[in-house]
Amino acid sequence: PTWDYAPAPEARDLATVRDAYRLFVDGEFVDPAEGGSFATISPATEEHLADVALATAPDVDRAVAAARTAFGTWSRLPGAERGKYLFRIARLLQERARELAVLETLDNGKPIRETRDVDVPTAAAHFFYHAGWADKLEWAGLGHDPAPVGVCGQVIPWNFPLLMLAWKVAPALACGNTVVLKPAETTPLSALLFAEICQQADLPPGVVNIVTGAGDTGAALVAHPDVDKVAFTGSTAVGKAIQRQLAGTGKRLTLELGGKAANIVFDDAPIDQAIEGIVDGIFFNQGHVCCAGSRLLVQESIHDLVIDKLQQRLGTLRLGNPLDKNTDIGAINSRDQLERITTLVDAGEAEGAQRWSPACELPERGFWFAPTVFTDVSQSSRIAQEEVFGPVLSVLSFRTAEEAVAKANNTPYGLSAGVWSEKGSRILWMADQLRAGVVWANTFNRFDPTSPFGGYKESGFGREGGIHGLAAYLQQEDY
Ligand code: NAD
Repeated sequence: PTWDYAPAPEARDLATVRDAYRLFVDGEFVDPAEGGSFATISPATEEHLADVALATAPDVDRAVAAARTAFGTWSRLPGAERGKYLFRIARLLQERARELAVLETLDNGKPIRETRDVDVPTAAAHFFYHAGWADKLEWAGLGHDPAPVGVCGQVIPWNFPLLMLAWKVAPALACGNTVVLKPAETTPLSALLFAEICQQADLPPGVVNIVTGAGDTGAALVAHPDVDKVAFTGSTAVGKAIQRQLAGTGKRLTLELGGKAANIVFDDAPIDQAIEGIVDGIFFNQGHVCCAGSRLLVQESIHDLVIDKLQQRLGTLRLGNPLDKNTDIGAINSRDQLERITTLVDAGEAEGAQRWSPACELPERGFWFAPTVFTDVSQSSRIAQEEVFGPVLSVLSFRTAEEAVAKANNTPYGLSAGVWSEKGSRILWMADQLRAGVVWANTFNRFDPTSPFGGYKESGFGREGGIHGLAAYLQQEDY
């Protein structure tokens, strides 16, 4: 595809990308104590987007202190009052949806169709859903007038910047907690636009604070003695380090980590629907999805048919300018991530798997990786065991349902899985056997605020969404 590599000027105007962004503390945009900053770029063009304040320990102190003070009043507001603020935020997310979608696409590299149709509306839906809960917590069986946990330190990754923020901030606020959130260093902009929305909603100062920076900023937040609960979404390595760091501190912790989901297709599955589900499962958001269906387990008798149909379908995908609404595959979020993907794909070839990609011209500038399918993958190979977090599918086959379960469960992860079959009893049996927090039936990558999401094994613990997600933000953690 040929396209103008610089984002069109009107796109920048629409998203009102500022030259510089400050921290959001105690209801105000403030300069960082040590005056540092870092750049955020467009991964599709490598164009410099903005300089963003670098928060260090004194800024984290200030943000946590503001959250602590705000907790005194926010936690005592009647639930219905808190709910009104959340409704207001939800409506403002809808009103500013276009601006948010363009900004997110510029900063993240994901296609505008996804930010427009998934990220932003689902973020708004999370605020609507939790707004409704704010005055009904006792009806969730969570005790009469249940008490919030306190000040929450929340650290999120770059793959769904606004949506991960919504998953964390909405339930915390609904339950009466206050928040200091650290977005990922490659995608800080939508969180800072969200901060503007908090101001616009007249959210009391200190209820939401945003500190931007890299791992050091996150580490300072997690370690802060006045943070009562840490909610982390990111890599398994960092999640494990945080778990060790918090051992013995009495802080509450939830971890949403990596995954290596199996998308399991039986020979009686509706094949064309399954092909769409396989494509969506791994190529949605360039495969930067913790629950991505990165392992296709296909029943042996339909293996060749599925591969053939999959290859045909992949040939029709459009890769390129993420701001073009016809684009299916956008940019890889960062050079680092591109290198991680390349390393694992090289390992896949070295280990003897067959590599295939559709004919597809990659833009010269920016970070790009063609959709890739590996067949002849052995179970023990790195591409079958390790999270690639990119547009790379590893195909394995199976004969019986028992074999499918054994293969699906044979990784250190357990976040999600998909089962494709016409037979309801088989789907239910599989769902019971699969060690995964989410099992989709004849669909994949569907998210809804009413459904709890979270992992087994090294994919983490704790749930986000639904009643279970609320429980994580209350003292009485019954669910
Ligand atoms: P990462 O762990 O490197 O970074 C995630 C966040 O943690 C970033 O904000 C980063 O700045 C911060 N961070 C880094 N080191 C830290 C430390 N020592 N202390 C505190 N914070 C620190 O992960 P990533 O590369 O940004 O994200 C990709 C990973 O996230 C993938 O493994 C993916 O599966 C996982 N993920 C999981 C879910 C889920 O819900 N389970 C959702 C999205 C992403």
